Amino acid sequence: PARARHRRLSALRFALRSAPVRAMASHIVGYPRMGPKRELKFALESFWDGKSNADELQKVAADLRASIWKRMATAGIKYIPSNTFSYYDQVLDTTAMLGAVPPRYGWNGGEIGFDTYFSMARGNSSVPAMEMTKWFDTNYHYIVPELGPDVKFSYASHKAVDEFKEARALGVDTVPVLVGPVSYLLLSKPAKGVEKSFSLLSLVGKILPIYKEVVAELKAAGATWIQFDEPTLVTDLDSHQLQAFTHAYSELESALSGLSILIETYFADVPAEAYKTLTSLKGVAGFGFDLVRGTKTLDLVKGGFPSGKYLFAGVVDGRNIWANDLDSSLKTLQALEGVVGKDKVIVSTSCSLLHTAVDLVNETKLDKEIKSWLAFAAQKVVEVNALAQALFGLKDETVFSSNAATQASRKSSPRVTNEAVQMAAAALKGSDHRRATNVSARLDAQQKKLNLPILPTTTIGSFPQTMELRKVRREYKAKKISEDDYVKAIKEEISKVVKLQEELDIDVLVHGEPERNDMVEYFGEQLSGFAFTVNGWVQSYGSRCVKPPIIYGDVSRPKAMTVFWSSTAQSMTKCPMKGMLTGPVTILNWSFVRNDQPRSETCYQIALAIKDEVEDLEKAGVTVIQIDEAALREGLPLRKAEQASYLDWAVHSFRITNCGVKDTTQIHTHMCYSNFNDIIHSIINMDADVITIENSRSDEKLLSVFREGVKYGAGIGPGVYDIHSPRIPSSEEIADRINKMLAVLESNILWVNPDCGLKTRKYSEVKPALSNMVAAAKLLRTQL
Ligand code: GLN
Ligand code: ZN
Repeated sequence: PARARHRRLSALRFALRSAPVRAMASHIVGYPRMGPKRELKFALESFWDGKSNADELQKVAADLRASIWKRMATAGIKYIPSNTFSYYDQVLDTTAMLGAVPPRYGWNGGEIGFDTYFSMARGNSSVPAMEMTKWFDTNYHYIVPELGPDVKFSYASHKAVDEFKEARALGVDTVPVLVGPVSYLLLSKPAKGVEKSFSLLSLVGKILPIYKEVVAELKAAGATWIQFDEPTLVTDLDSHQLQAFTHAYSELESALSGLSILIETYFADVPAEAYKTLTSLKGVAGFGFDLVRGTKTLDLVKGGFPSGKYLFAGVVDGRNIWANDLDSSLKTLQALEGVVGKDKVIVSTSCSLLHTAVDLVNETKLDKEIKSWLAFAAQKVVEVNALAQALFGLKDETVFSSNAATQASRKSSPRVTNEAVQMAAAALKGSDHRRATNVSARLDAQQKKLNLPILPTTTIGSFPQTMELRKVRREYKAKKISEDDYVKAIKEEISKVVKLQEELDIDVLVHGEPERNDMVEYFGEQLSGFAFTVNGWVQSYGSRCVKPPIIYGDVSRPKAMTVFWSSTAQSMTKCPMKGMLTGPVTILNWSFVRNDQPRSETCYQIALAIKDEVEDLEKAGVTVIQIDEAALREGLPLRKAEQASYLDWAVHSFRITNCGVKDTTQIHTHMCYSNFNDIIHSIINMDADVITIENSRSDEKLLSVFREGVKYGAGIGPGVYDIHSPRIPSSEEIADRINKMLAVLESNILWVNPDCGLKTRKYSEVKPALSNMVAAAKLLRTQL
C-alpha cells in the first residue's frame, strides 16, 4: 500500500507539473475535509474505536488533502488554501498551535499528538471534552478555547507549516490559512475559575509571538501569501474590540513583511466601523468579503477601498448548494473592478466551502433537472475559475451559456412554482395569526378535557431507536418488505411504547416516532418542493455530518403525513397521545433553502403545510399536538439589528401552524437549548400552551430568566434530566431539580419531562430513568 500510494502521489505530481498553468485571479477560502463519501469520518471513528492505527488515519487524511489540492490546481485556481484540513476543528487546531491546552489534559509540552488533541475534542475516560459551540450562524461547531491569565503559550503544533510543505512536495503552492489572532481570542471563553471580568483580548500580546514564529516558518518554507481568517469582524464589535485588530496587525507588521497578507471575513457584510478598521490595517495586501450574505459590502467598497490593495470577492456561495448565476456574478465583479482597479479583483467563495456539500458527481439518484441547478464544493471551484477567466477576458462562452440556460430553467420550471401556494403565502403577510382566546383561558378549557394531575409527566417524542427498528425502515425503503409488513412492525413498536408508558404511569403519552429517521427528513420526504441527496453531507462537528434536504420549490402538502400513526397510537390508549410534528422554522433552518425568494417566504409556505397537518390531527381526535422548534434559535442573525425581524417572522410562522385549533386542543412546542434569556419574549410570543425545553446541562441558566421576574403563564417543562448521557438519575435528584423549578415557577404550570427525545438511549437506561422521573413527580404532588 505504501508503494501504491507513492505511485499515486508521483502521478499526481507529474500531472500537476504538466498541467497548463494559466491560473487566473481565483481563490478558495477553504474546502470540506470529510471527503466526497465521508472518508475522514470513517477513518476517524475506526481510529477512535481502536480498529485502526494513527498511520492509517494519517494516510486517509493525506490522500484527501492531496486530492483536494489537485482538484483546485487542475481547475486553475491560483490561490489554493492549505491548513483548512482538520482532524476535528480548525479552532482546536489553533489552540494546539498555541499550546493552549487546559491543564486537566495533563499535556507536558512538546508537539501535540493525537492523544492530547482528541482528548480536548472528545474527552477521555477521566476528563470530559472541552466545550463546543456553534460557529457563527452555521451548523458547524467549534471547540471553544479556554483561556486565563496564566496560560503559557508555546508553539506546539506545526500543522500549518507541515501542510504547506506537503502541498509543495506535490507541486502545489498554497496559501496557508490561520485563524486570525483577534478572532481566536474573541471566540474563546475565560477558563474555569477565572473572573468574568478577565479580558481575553489582554492575551493578544502573549499569542502574537507564537503567530510570528509560525509566520517565519511559513516564509522560510516558501509561502508568499498567508490568509488570516477574521470572521468576527462581521459581528457587533465595540471600539475596544476593533482596536485590538489595529493593535495586533501593526504588532505583526514587521514579521509579515515580505509576505502578502489576506484578511478574510465571511458570513455577513462588515459593519461600516469595522470596515474602516479593516481596510486601514497595516501591512495587509488583500481583504476578503462575503458578497452573498454581505448585502451591503458592495456599497462599502464603492464608498472607498485602499488603493493598490486586492479585493477577494466572495461571489460564489459557500453556504448553499445552488449553481452560481455566472452572468450576474460577472457583472458584480466588473463593477468592483471599476472601483478597485484592473487586476485587483480576485474571484472567491463567500466563505469556506466547508459549509456546503462536497461533490455533485456522486448524486446519481437526484432528478436530472434539479441536479442541473446545483453546485457542490467541487463544482463551485470550477465556477470560481470560470468567473476569473471571464473577468480576465477569457470568457468561456459555452460554460456561460449553459449556465444561463440552467438558471433560466430554474426560474421558469413548473416544479418550482405553485401559484396557489405563492398566493396563500403572500396573503399571510401583514396579518397577525393568533389563537382567539388567551393562554390561561385555553389552559382551563384543556384541563377540563384532559384532567391531568398537577406536575403532569410527559416525554419529548422519540423512544429508543433499536437496531431492529432501523432494519425494518431500511428494508421497507429498499422494498425488501411489503407495506403491510412494515405497517405491522411499526404498529407493534408503537404498541410496546404505549404499554411501557402506561406501566410507568406517564400522563401524556407519545407514540415514540419509530417511523422516522430524522425529524426534518421525514416531513421533507412527504412535502412537495423538497429534494434529497445521497451524499450531500456537511460537517456538523468532529466526525459528525448532517445531510440537509434541499428546498427547491414552493412547499405544499399533498396529503396527511402523521395522522395515520398518531390516530393509531391514540386508539391504543385512554391517555392523551401527543401528535408529533416538526415546526416550520426548524424545517427551514435544517435544510438547504432556495435563494430565489426570502427565507421568510419559504418559512411561511412550510407553516401553511404544517397548519394543514395540525388541523387534520385535530379532526382525527388528537387533542395534544407538539410542534418541535428545536432549531428556532439557530437561525438568529449574527447582528442584533437584524434579529428582531427574524424573530418576528419565525414566531409568526409558528403561530400560523396552530392559530386555527380549538381552545381545547393543547399545543406543545419543544426546544433543545436553554440559553434563550435574550429571546424569551419571542418565545412567550409563540403562544404555545406548553413548552418543553432542555435545561439540565446548563446550570439552570433558564430558570434565572424567571427568577429575574419574566412572567410566564403557559405550561413549561424544563428538562429534569440529561438524555445525552447514559447515566440514570435517581428520583431524589430529579425531585431536587423539580423543587428548584418550583422555587421560581408556579406549580400549576410546571411539567415534568426529560431534556429531549430518547432515541439515542437504550431501553435499559430509559426505563429506570423514566420510572424515577414519575416517582419524583408523584412524591412532590403529595407535598404540594
Ligand atoms: N420530537 C423529537 C424527538 O423526541 C425532538 C427532537 C429534538 O428536539 N431534536 O426526538
Ligand atoms: Zn430536543
